[in-house]
Amino acid sequence: MQRRASKNRNGRLANASEKKFHSWLKEHDCVWCDQPGPSIVDHCKGATFGHNKVHIGHWFCLPPCVECDKEKTIHGKRLGNESFAWGRLHQDYFNETGKSAPIDVERAIESWGK
Ligand SMILES: [Zn+2]
Repeated sequence: MQRRASKNRNGRLANASEKKFHSWLKEHDCVWCDQPGPSIVDHCKGATFGHNKVHIGHWFCLPPCVECDKEKTIHGKRLGNESFAWGRLHQDYFNETGKSAPIDVERAIESWGK
């Protein structure tokens, strides 16, 4: 019997847990320059991004300010290690809210490593 496709298939909309994380990110200071929030919710690798067969696009998001977002999206600058920055933020998210990404998502982002 064929297994059903994962609910976490690429291309879907953010689910409730991911939306909560996005709302939290939006109120966060800029991840790169500490400019006070609200910030943009940047999908680091796009909403459909997957790594190690895990869909992480809607979790792998960071909160840049408008200026830092421009540096990345318009000037193509690399502002830092996004996986590392995400790991720090995700820890804060857990400490503040008691919520976290699914463990396979957390591991896939850590494994992406850049
Ligand atoms: Zn900034």
